[in-house]
Order: sequence, then C-alpha cells, then structure tokens
Amino acid sequence: MKLNVLWMYHDVMDLYGDRGNIQVLKKRCMDRNIEIEIDTCGIGESKHIGDYDLLFIGGGADREQGLLFDDLVSRKQDIIDAIDAKTFVLLICGGYQFFGQYYIDNSDNKIEGLGIFNYYTTSDSSVGRCIGNIEIEATLDGKTVNIVGFENHGGQTRGVEHPLGKVVHGHGNEYQGGYEGFYNGQVLGTYMHGPLLPKNPEVADFIISKALAKRHGEVQLAELDDTLENRAHEVMQKRMAGA
Ligand code: GLN
Repeated sequence: MKLNVLWMYHDVMDLYGDRGNIQVLKKRCMDRNIEIEIDTCGIGESKHIGDYDLLFIGGGADREQGLLFDDLVSRKQDIIDAIDAKTFVLLICGGYQFFGQYYIDNSDNKIEGLGIFNYYTTSDSSVGRCIGNIEIEATLDGKTVNIVGFENHGGQTRGVEHPLGKVVHGHGNEYQGGYEGFYNGQVLGTYMHGPLLPKNPEVADFIISKALAKRHGEVQLAELDDTLENRAHEVMQKRMAGA
C-alpha cells in the first residue's frame, strides 16, 4: 500500500510547526509499513494534483497569502478535479481561508479566495485576535473526536455550512463564535495549528484512512502505541480546563 502526499507551498505556508503534521503522517505510515511519498509544490511548479491521495496546505501570514494567491488561483480547476477524484484535502488556517470566497486583512486588502466553498473571512479590528490554545469536539464521519491545538488568526470566518466541530475552549472560526473549521467529507479545514496531528493521533489516522481510501478503499489501520501522544493531548486538555 502506498500513500502519495502533495505538500503545497511548503516553503511559504508553514506557521507554528505546521510541518509537524507531515512528519506525523510519515511516521504513522512507516510504523505500519505503508509506503509514503511526500512531494512538494512551490509557486510556479507544475504538478497534477489529482495524482495525489492527500493535498496539504499549512498556514501563512497575510503577506505570504498575498504572494501565492495568483499561483493558487491558476490551479483552481486542477484542485476541483482532484477533490472530485477523491483526493483528500487538509488545510490549516491561511490555507483553509483560501478555499472560501475571499479574505480581507486588517489593512482592508482583499485577497480573492478560490471560491470553492461559500465561507468568507474578514479581519475585524473591533473584535479581538483569536489566539491561544483551543479544544473542540468534532464529528468525523459520525464519530465524535476531541481535538486540541493552538490558534492565532485575525481573520473571522463566517458562512461556514459544515463546521468541523464545536468549540470547548478557545475561539475557532470567529472570536467567541462557538464553531471551528470546515469538514465536508473530502476537505478538512481548521484553524488548529499546534501542529494539529502530533497531539491528535486519532485525527492523524482518520486523515491517513481517508487519503488511502482514494485508491485502496476502506483500510483497517494497525494499532500503534499512542501513550505519549495521548498524554500530550491530555496535558493540553487539563491545562485548558484549568486543572
Ligand atoms: N493571515 C491569516 C489571519 O491572521 C492566517 C494566519 C494563520 O495562518 N495563522 O487570519
């Protein structure tokens, strides 16, 4: 079995350890003897996204988002075709914002989004920046999963039709808004850095399974020893609960 990953804008979109997500995917596949190939795609590089099982884009500050926008828009049809062909997409923060209608930053600059989904993001200086640790209760294909992470964004994302989960601690899509992220079965967008996957092994395996499903159908992943990962998860949960 083999998993082909495309890490897009690896050199530009990489905030708060987002690259750790790639390391976790690699380790959890290797520990199970699943071959994993991680390819990168920078601005101007020619790649056919539909060739991959998983597309990953990390977070980036406003400046980075502005730099790569033209390149991303030129790939819109390729991205839509890849999603239709069941490539799974994982997007963090700035990457997540890009798949919506637009992003208006603090200086009122408007960056058009890919417009694949209806949500839109504006920076609103009358509300605070969403920053700090975050815990959510997510539903992943019917299964309730507790996810912990770290968020740091000025953008307030509204009009999300399928939120990833409900906020337990922190902010999520909007300052004190109650809901976090986006998930529609094929694309998962979230404000959760941390990075996301090391402290949430259940989410890491969910993403591996969804990505493998493209070419291998339903796969039963072997159990791994997650003592350390679960402990890291628990420590964060306890800290947020003030325990
Ligand atoms: N620049 C965006 C914002 O502040 C995204 C930041 C990020 O990816 N952490 O909303």
